[in-house]
This record gives sequence, C-alpha cells and structure tokens, in this order.
Amino acid sequence: MKIGFFEVEDWEKDYIGSRLSGHEVLFLDKNQGAEGSGQIDILSNFIGYPVTAETLRQFPDLKFVTTRSTGFDHIDLEACAQRGILVSNVPTYGENTVAEFTFALLLAVSRKIYPSVKRVRERGLFATDNLQGFDLQGKTLGVIGTGHIGTYVVKIAKGFGMNVIAYDPYPREELAGQFGFVYKTLEELLGASDAVTLHVPYLPATHHLLNSKNIGLCKRGAVIINTARGGLIETAALTAALKSGQLAGAGLDVLEEEGFVKDELEILAGGHPNEDQLKIALADHELMQMDNVVVTPHNAFNTKEALIRILDTTIENIQAFARGKPVNLVK
Ligand code: NAD
Repeated sequence: MKIGFFEVEDWEKDYIGSRLSGHEVLFLDKNQGAEGSGQIDILSNFIGYPVTAETLRQFPDLKFVTTRSTGFDHIDLEACAQRGILVSNVPTYGENTVAEFTFALLLAVSRKIYPSVKRVRERGLFATDNLQGFDLQGKTLGVIGTGHIGTYVVKIAKGFGMNVIAYDPYPREELAGQFGFVYKTLEELLGASDAVTLHVPYLPATHHLLNSKNIGLCKRGAVIINTARGGLIETAALTAALKSGQLAGAGLDVLEEEGFVKDELEILAGGHPNEDQLKIALADHELMQMDNVVVTPHNAFNTKEALIRILDTTIENIQAFARGKPVNLVK
C-alpha cells in the first residue's frame, strides 16, 4: 500500500519506515498537500492537518485515515463515510501522559510558577511578595469526563489528598467506588469545585460545555484547567470570568480556534477568517497575556514515551487495515 504521513518529525521517519517495510511510505509536507504524493491509499495525520472534504478531493484513491491522536474532531467523518473511507485513531497512549500534564498546569497556576520563574530570571529578584499560592490538599477537584485520562487524573488527585467529584453523562459507578469519588450534575460540580478539569471529547454535544450561562455557577476563586479541546469552553465567558475575579486562574493547553492562532500569519496572508474566528483569536491573545493564566501550545501528549506508543498503535492500525481487519475505528 502507498501510505502518506503528514506532520512527522525526522526521528519518527526511521521508526516508521523500518516497521512498515513492504509498503511504500511517503513523508509529506502539510503545506504542500497532495503535491508530488501520487495516489496514496492511507493517510496518517495529526491534529494540525485537518481532513476535510476539500482535503479528500486531493486523494482520489484514499481508503483509510489513521490519525495519530485520540481526538478526531479535526476529521470530517461524514465526508470520509461518503467516500467509504475508514478512520482510526489512537484510543489510548498512556492516560498518565495527559493526566500528569494536567497537574503540571494546575500546580503552575496554584503555585504561581510562571510569574515566580519570570521574576527570578528576568529581574534577578529573589522575593516572594504577591507569589502566595494555595494547597491542593483538602481542596475539591471537579473532573468533567471520567474516561481514560479523567480516571488517571482522579488517581493523581487522590495522591495530593484532594476530594474528587465528577460529571460524566455515562457515569461508571464501579470507578467511583474504586477510587473514592462521587458523580454530580455539571451544575453541582461547578458550584462545589475549587478546580475544574476537562477530559471530554469535543463533539456538538460538548461545544461550549462551559459557557456564559453556567460559568457564573463556579465557586468564586476557582481555577479551570483544560487539556482536552478549546471548543469545550466559550472563550469570551472565560476571559470575562477571569477579569471579574469569578475565576482565580486557568491552565490551558488548548484554545478555541487554536489552529487559527498557530497559523495566524499564513491565514492573515491568504485566508478568510470570519468575524467570530477573529474575535476568538483576539480573546486567545488576551488570555495568553494574563498573569493568572498559563497557556501551553497543545503539548500535553508530547512525551518521548507517549510518542512511541502513538507510533506503535498507528503502525498496528495500518497493518490491521492492510490485512482487511481494521482496528480502532472511530464512528
Ligand atoms: P475517553 O473517550 O476515554 O473519555 C471521554 C469521557 O468523556 C468518557 O467517559 C465519556 O463518557 C465522557 N463524555 C462524553 N460526552 C460527554 C459530555 N457531553 N459531557 C461530559 N462527559 C462526556 O477520552 P480520553 O482518552 O480520556 O481523552 C479525553 C479528551 O482529551 C480527548 O477526546 C481529546 O480531545 C483530549 N486529549 C488532549 C490531548 C492533548 O495533548 N492536549 C491528548 C490526548 C487527548
């Protein structure tokens, strides 16, 4: 089979190539699209190369898309289905990886790590005024989504001595018993949590799960952590709540319209962002500048160990598809 990989780093090329011998493997540049790629049967991408109906038109022979991510909201599943193209993902690659990063963000906010480092590094000032934080021990963590990552977050939270409550439309009571947390409604969770962390997929049902109507239910002084997807939070509602002091801080690895922020120069040069996208991108910039907000560039997945696991599952996905028995299909 002819396989086109997008968004691959140099070290990954040897790893992939040596494990897919027998196939023709191409490493493609997302800015060049199909140019020079010939007729690929399989496409493997990451979140920075969305597969839209327009993308699909460039690949007339395409039969299978295997994204090297858990989330698949960057793939137009309907357009794929219309062409009979199957789609697989990497359902898990170590839930610890994103869960650990969740606490990196939470601690960065709760202990003011970024302003502390900045003060020492930029001003050479070894002083603690305005750097007082708060303990995690004894605080209540609200976990939205108790799937692979959310459950691991619960485990770590227990190690910090936190009380945990959770919301999930598909509660798993056995987990709650095993790890010692209780399920609440979303509204109850927002009202009782000192920190809220999101671990749900981005779907029409989860678009702006946290929004201008319910953000006011949050405990005054609560912290929001988002390592899932930017579109789960209405950006304008978040910035307003941070400015008013309703929320004390936020740790965000994902932003609404982050693709726009990432490729800003390119888009401004040639694209046509709509008014809503522009407003959100401006609000994103405002968030990035706030002292009580830590923004990272969608980096929670990015450990050596996780990347190897992602490649291994992607290679398995390709081999299974080539054998006629596809695995890890998304619906
Ligand atoms: P998962 O499928 O194991 O768990 C998702 C959970 O969300 C499930 O328990 C499900 O019942 C729940 N859920 C579904 N709809 C919901 C709703 N409307 N409200 C509340 N909960 C709902 O997924 P996971 O492996 O835990 O990953 C969660 C998300 O994290 C992924 O979808 C992905 O978008 C994101 N993610 C981000 C990174 C990163 O680098 N920042 C890396 C991996 C995953």
